[in-house]
Amino acid sequence: MPSFVPTDPLGLDELLGPEDLAIRDTVRGWAADRVLPHIAGWYESGELPGIRELARELGAIGALGMSLTGYGCAGASAVQYGLACLELEAADSGIRSLVSVQGSLAMYAIWKYGSEEQKQRWLPGMAAGELIGCFGLTEPDVGSDPAAMRTYAKRDGGDWVLNGRKMWITNGSVAAVAVVWAQTDEGIRGFAVPTDSAGFSAPEIKHKWSLRASVTSELVMDDVRLPADAVLPGVTGLKGPLGCLSHARYGIVWGSMGAARASFESALDYAKTREQFGRPIGGFQLTQAKLADMALELHKGILLAHHLGRRMDAGTLRPEQISFGKLNNVREAIEICRTARTILGANGISLEYPVMRHATNLESVLTYEGTVEMHQLVLGKALTGLDAFR
Ligand code: FAD
Repeated sequence: MPSFVPTDPLGLDELLGPEDLAIRDTVRGWAADRVLPHIAGWYESGELPGIRELARELGAIGALGMSLTGYGCAGASAVQYGLACLELEAADSGIRSLVSVQGSLAMYAIWKYGSEEQKQRWLPGMAAGELIGCFGLTEPDVGSDPAAMRTYAKRDGGDWVLNGRKMWITNGSVAAVAVVWAQTDEGIRGFAVPTDSAGFSAPEIKHKWSLRASVTSELVMDDVRLPADAVLPGVTGLKGPLGCLSHARYGIVWGSMGAARASFESALDYAKTREQFGRPIGGFQLTQAKLADMALELHKGILLAHHLGRRMDAGTLRPEQISFGKLNNVREAIEICRTARTILGANGISLEYPVMRHATNLESVLTYEGTVEMHQLVLGKALTGLDAFR
């Protein structure tokens, strides 16, 4: 009989092959060296210094566009990509966001819908982390209902002229290329916009209390003139951005469990050493109930992520199933972080421990890539056959 391992109570590591474990260890090691020693300071100052160097290092370990094939991408499985997301988010959701937006949104859009020329131009540099990408869908007045977007691209001779605003765009101010979704006379189209184009600017959004170690920006496009070949030729309509979002949301199913794991492990350690009333607080039944419930949701969540990963690798994963995973895992992750915070008492609010940072990060994760309510509506529609969106 194998022994009980507190960090892997269900023996889920047995689901992983040697290559999966090697990738996980590489990413975990990178995050331990390059993120964990600094993250509290970055979070406190509300910045991600050295983001370009971090991106190049992430490129060097194959983490950018990891599950894409060709163009310098690693061609990893969906499960391996998920494991990487979990390890990165165990360090900080901001680092996982950098990687998700780069790989699953900006690179994926170009890889899936771009011309061969666009792929050759952007993807190798993005896979190497030399070029950072962002993905502009949300606008100041348009979030959950992207069909209502106002950003507009109009044909002018052989060119396109792009006007509009995008809001809350991860990596925006440091991006070399912005994948921007816009209305056109033909329906919604995607554009690969070089960020040095005249009329394009990306001021950073400050005063965030969540994802503080992440660059979040507004994209301002005033008469940005683009050549005809800036449009992504492979898709028209909302299914373009939604296809990218499915890929990114899948990574969040895993990533959120990383934030939960870090908070759980912090609370478990603390409960074993912090003494009150003459004994470790982990010896009190109420603390044990919290720890047991946290472990249940954490490892059920990882098992769910793994199941979805296998379906993605088999080509059978449906968007409703991604909604299932994102809804469940982010909601449970934030609950785990909040419970961990209570176990740490006053220390729980300090940046000396990771739990409050993870909890506040997850407030963003709960909202981006489809809010809780949007995923409830997706599942509600799939269950009942009735559309309650509008
Ligand atoms: P709204 O859509 O205005 O929703 C507000 C509330 O109303 C929510 O609770 C919502 O669920 C609810 N609601 C809306 N419609 C309904 C309905 N029909 N029924 C019930 N409830 C409803 N976007 C990008 O395009 N690219 C990025 O890189 C990016 N990065 C982000 C980074 C951060 C840190 C954050 C916080 C956001 C980011 N976003 C990004 C934006 C994010 O995707 C949006 O915030 C999200 O889609 C929700 O849109 P909204 O904030 O406009 O909220």
